[in-house]
Amino acid sequence: MYPLQTLHTFGLHACAQEIEYIHSLAQAKKMLNNLAGRSYYILGEGSNTVFLEDFTGSVLKVAIKGIALQEHPEHYELHVGAGENWHELVEWCLDRDINGFENLALIPGTVGAAPIQNIGAYGVEIEQFIQSVEYLCLLTGELKSLSREECQFGYRDSIFKQQLAGKFIIGMVKFRLAKRWQANAEYAELKALDNPSAKQIFAKVVEVRQAKLPDPKKVGNAGSFFKNPIIPIVLYQNLLQRFTSLPSYPVDKQHVKVPAAWLIDKLGFKGKYIGGIHCHASQPLVLTNNGSGTGEDLLSLAKQIKQAVKHEFSIELENEVQLVSNSGLVNV
Ligand SMILES: Cc1cc2nc3c(=O)[nH]c(=O)nc-3n(C[C@H](O)[C@H](O)[C@H](O)COP(=O)(O)OP(=O)(O)OC[C@H]3O[C@@H](n4cnc5c(N)ncnc54)[C@H](O)[C@@H]3O)c2cc1C
Repeated sequence: MYPLQTLHTFGLHACAQEIEYIHSLAQAKKMLNNLAGRSYYILGEGSNTVFLEDFTGSVLKVAIKGIALQEHPEHYELHVGAGENWHELVEWCLDRDINGFENLALIPGTVGAAPIQNIGAYGVEIEQFIQSVEYLCLLTGELKSLSREECQFGYRDSIFKQQLAGKFIIGMVKFRLAKRWQANAEYAELKALDNPSAKQIFAKVVEVRQAKLPDPKKVGNAGSFFKNPIIPIVLYQNLLQRFTSLPSYPVDKQHVKVPAAWLIDKLGFKGKYIGGIHCHASQPLVLTNNGSGTGEDLLSLAKQIKQAVKHEFSIELENEVQLVSNSGLVNV
């Protein structure tokens, strides 16, 4: 058995039967026959994955590297291997005065995982830079490519979490970044910046994130445990009568998004422990592992939160994190 503790940022003690590193989609294609009938889990840097217990299958860790840059009159095109680290790519671009990714600084994980949940922060989502995503179809063994439109991006969502779930390995992502850059500094703490450069936005995002979020290198966590729920406006208006300060962000004419952290905080979970699992004291959307936590503790705290939110607000929380049990994915 192979230990997984250092291969996922939540850091629970768990093992896999086997770990294989994927260095190219051609290599992955050759492995397909061996995988038939076996359970496997495709892993980037494990920052959105929690192995709740030993996994009776193979972990396929994507380690496809390489960054190629093409300059065009009006834009840059980047071809990036799925195993590259996202934050290092953001820095690599800013060092070359290629701007656009700065709001997404310090999001852990790989480039290949980023389109799957359409990573986002500080008013920006990765979808706006994606030109196409190249992947190996695990059903047919074909190499395929999807344009941005075909990826069907949504809030922390894409075709890779829907129709294609479990049927692909992403090998490369193509990005397009316009040379004419405009700051996106309307969100939260960025508003205080006066006519900022991309590097100033980057520095501010890093500063705020380091102050607010636990560093997974020091305290096991997987970022936001639940998604911010999108609810009907009618429900929101009903809730406002009881909770006058409930914040919301517009989604469309019928829906708004409400911060899951606010709901969890309101119910008094901040700082609560079950075994070695903790609801973070300054960001209650983040659950952390003090080193002795178990998958059982985590599920039990997450279930308590989910049930309480349902009971008090009639809102169904969905986990943002991928929870892996001994045989595959589970929900809270
Ligand atoms: C402290 C912290 C802060 C965070 N902040 C944010 C944030 O602000 N915004 C945000 O959107 N997210 C955030 N996250 C979540 C996380 O960073 C992202 O989801 C990231 O994209 C996960 O990358 P990964 O390589 O670690 O993915 P993993 O956890 O390894 O995998 C995630 C999913 O993608 C699949 N997968 C991974 N790579 C591939 C591939 N090449 N081909 C096919 N499937 C693949 C896995 O099977 C799994 O289903 C945060 C996480 C942490 C720990």
